[in-house]
Amino acid sequence: MTAPRIESDLDKLEQNTRSLVDRLMPTGIRVTGVTKAVLGSPEIGAAMLRGGASGLGDSRVPNLTRLAGPGRSASRTLIRSPMLSQARRVVAVADVSLNTEAVVLAALDGAALRAGRTHGIVLMIELGDLREGIAPDDAADAARVVLDHPSLRLVGLGANLACQNGVVPDDRNMGVLSGLVDDIEALHGISLGTVSGGNSANLGWALSTGAVGRIDELRLGEAILLGVDPLHRTPIAGLHTDAFTLIAEVIEVATKPAQPWGDRAQAAYGEAPVRTGIGTVRQAILALGRQDVELDGLCPPDGITILGMSSDHLVVELGDHLVAVGDELAFGVAYGALVQAMTSPFVAKVEHLGRHTQRPDRVHLAEVSGG
Ligand SMILES: *Cc1c(COP(=O)(O)O)cnc(C)c1O
Repeated sequence: MTAPRIESDLDKLEQNTRSLVDRLMPTGIRVTGVTKAVLGSPEIGAAMLRGGASGLGDSRVPNLTRLAGPGRSASRTLIRSPMLSQARRVVAVADVSLNTEAVVLAALDGAALRAGRTHGIVLMIELGDLREGIAPDDAADAARVVLDHPSLRLVGLGANLACQNGVVPDDRNMGVLSGLVDDIEALHGISLGTVSGGNSANLGWALSTGAVGRIDELRLGEAILLGVDPLHRTPIAGLHTDAFTLIAEVIEVATKPAQPWGDRAQAAYGEAPVRTGIGTVRQAILALGRQDVELDGLCPPDGITILGMSSDHLVVELGDHLVAVGDELAFGVAYGALVQAMTSPFVAKVEHLGRHTQRPDRVHLAEVSGG
């Protein structure tokens, strides 16, 4: 197979979704699976739906277009406020979008009218993280604006915390959202079917509070994909944290001095990483670089240490591993590395149904010298 490539284990992703859906079930919260980190992969979206997600969400129109392929009927939500220039395409590929701007609502209404459809609107409320959202005091008026557009349907309210300033979802800010829902329903004589409390950062709150209130949906990406809580990047018990594996091929293996020689200035990406040790080290170069993945969040196999990465070369210290040119090494990825690998045109995307259960199965090394 070609390298570099990122392999996705669809069984693990389905199981992660199922586990979160089941845990949230008693709270009355359903799960929208968020596919933006995997560029709207239809296979991964389908795995989330098999795991019990009630619909799919993505922040980009091209990704939603991928998710909307033939035979795919799951509800799709654009989870970023639509670009004014994309109103027509948004109405075509998304059933619902998250909104904050009156001018965008008007454009969506016009586009929906021309397309002979209705488009669902979730109004986003600012609860303190200072990214998207209408001030709570303005929410009732914004709801009125949506209700006055004949081709728009007010689906509900939503909020997003943590992403911009790390603000933690809690009973207080979620309580504000619930209160607004009650107020708007009473004021306008309507009932709102969706109260979308937030993203993976809401899980800790949702699973521990006794006061879920009106929150009945979460939009979950990172927790499903990587099995971690983004507030502290800690693993969520019972979830797979290794559904994705980045595979790269070894192009040089050599024993080299531990320390560089010659006068020294900056390296390709700023200050060179500090080299420690004396004598020699066994190092390998992988055909993988910053055009493929970011260095932060790249997790090497046990016993192998990353020494540095430039645009096209990843240098590792091999320790006791026996590695030859042409071998492949398997790396774990954190969120940023996952997004970049998925986005790089140089990294092949391979989805499989859990045939390979353990990361070491995928590599030809795993032999420890002397063992
Ligand atoms: C990215 C995003 C999500 C999903 O976030 P995760 O942390 O991956 O769960 C949900 N809602 C909005 C508005 C987003 O931008």
